[in-house]
Amino acid sequence: MNSLNSKAVERLAELLTALGMQAELPLSNWVDGELLAGQGESIELLDPVTGLPLIRYRDAGGSLVERAVAAATAGQREWMALTASERGRRMTVAAWALRGHEETLAQLESIVAGKPIRDCRGEVNKVREMFEYYAGWCDKQHGEVIPVPTSHLNYVRHVPYGVVGQITPWNAPMFTCAWQLAPAIAAGNGVVLKPSEMTPFSSIAVAMLLERSGLPRGLINIVNGVGPTTGAALTGHAGIAKLVFVGSPESGRRIAQAGAERLVPSVLELGGKSANIVFADARHDDAVAGAQAAIFAAAGQSCVAGSRLLVQREAFDEVCERLARAAGEIAVGLPSDEATLMGPVQNARQHQHIVSMIESARQRGARLLCGGHRPQGLPQEASGYFLAPTVLVDVTEDMAIAQEEVFGPVVVVMPFDAEEDAVRLANATRFGLAGAVWTQDPARAHRVASRLRAGTVWINSYKAINVMSPFGGFGDSGFGRSSGVEGLKEYTVTQSVWVETAISASVAMGYGNGVG
Ligand code: NAD
Repeated sequence: MNSLNSKAVERLAELLTALGMQAELPLSNWVDGELLAGQGESIELLDPVTGLPLIRYRDAGGSLVERAVAAATAGQREWMALTASERGRRMTVAAWALRGHEETLAQLESIVAGKPIRDCRGEVNKVREMFEYYAGWCDKQHGEVIPVPTSHLNYVRHVPYGVVGQITPWNAPMFTCAWQLAPAIAAGNGVVLKPSEMTPFSSIAVAMLLERSGLPRGLINIVNGVGPTTGAALTGHAGIAKLVFVGSPESGRRIAQAGAERLVPSVLELGGKSANIVFADARHDDAVAGAQAAIFAAAGQSCVAGSRLLVQREAFDEVCERLARAAGEIAVGLPSDEATLMGPVQNARQHQHIVSMIESARQRGARLLCGGHRPQGLPQEASGYFLAPTVLVDVTEDMAIAQEEVFGPVVVVMPFDAEEDAVRLANATRFGLAGAVWTQDPARAHRVASRLRAGTVWINSYKAINVMSPFGGFGDSGFGRSSGVEGLKEYTVTQSVWVETAISASVAMGYGNGVG
């Protein structure tokens, strides 16, 4: 074991042991109420902080997926045999079962995902909030009665799909896992979820703690492995009735294709290139703080990152100068340090992608106002995937850096003149996930917000999200919605029931009524 990394390796082993997940190899799957090791190829995780080996585990493989789907099918039947109120009660208890484990979960997430510990603690709270919120919906999913123009009573039920397959990315694994698990089970489904192979453990820990609190065995299953093996086994499994995917547009296409092959619907929550629009009349202090939170929180590894800052020309120089100064003062450091605001990029491939996008933008004439390099003053052990907060100007609309998702701490700042230009620029990408407007003119704020082709829009704010409010994208940012009642509805399908109420059945279409 390299001494630089021994601390992280030991700490991770301690956390997995505390959760009962450590054996010879980590028990990297939660299937049918048991922690199981994978059966496929070995996968090595590197520490985002040091870039050195952290841990190895084995890909789940097709046979574990098979077991997981069978377990979810049985678990779902047991779940639906309970009353709706009982399901709600058990979900509430499950949410509270995380109590006492918050710090372990936050530490686990922080080490493997490389996220600042303060962010991870916040995410554990969100996990609990999501289960509490959807627990309340269990006994409030009413059907409808349709006033059909015949003697029938026609009512509509919202029924679960059965077993849903969920696939999540590495940037907020625990949050994303709960985000999709909670509505899925509240709607009455069983689940098999595959987290990113880069961040396998926190989803297992959450599922295990929830299920052990009294959910039916096998209701939730977590399988870990890479897309082409475990992922493909899941998306291609005949027992999966719906696919819910959170990740990149490239993989999203493959998941939707796999669903289409079997005529199974999908929800896709994909990437973004969100525009953060600052008008000259905005409060500049707030707009600059908002611009930093928009792009540098989570080191820009956020689907809603405000990676394009559009600033009205009169305020352009001042906002750029203040943003670059503020960016240079952000506390970049070890995720375990309580003061750290920004940690490393999660993995080598992503780090390389970000660096090469910056480099090619520079070759095409973009200019760095700050960043673009390793941050200075990092502790010796921080030899991993760190990148200083980066601000680029002199960017033209046709550059890849203005069009494609970077998924790192890199913002391009572009000027605009009139409101019309801001709207046009904001909408000029293939994505449509989020956006923001900063202005003190309320009429303009609402006018511009309504013209942005984005699933979430903030006015004089950024990154406010809550499980109660719907979330999702337009265009290449995906389709379908998560969170809120909209997110719940994605997990049910309607069934229309016709009941004849006439003394003599009117269904006959010329038959019956004494005939035969
Ligand atoms: P990714 O698409 O590479 O991987 C996401 C998941 O898909 C992983 O679990 C991966 O193993 C799996 N996968 C890949 N190919 C597969 C296949 N053929 N079959 C089955 N599974 C497969 O994405 P990533 O790099 O992990 O995450 C970053 C992306 O996620 C960014 O684009 C980001 O914007 C997006 N994201 C979107 C949201 C949202 O809510 N819209 C939230 C977080 C992240």
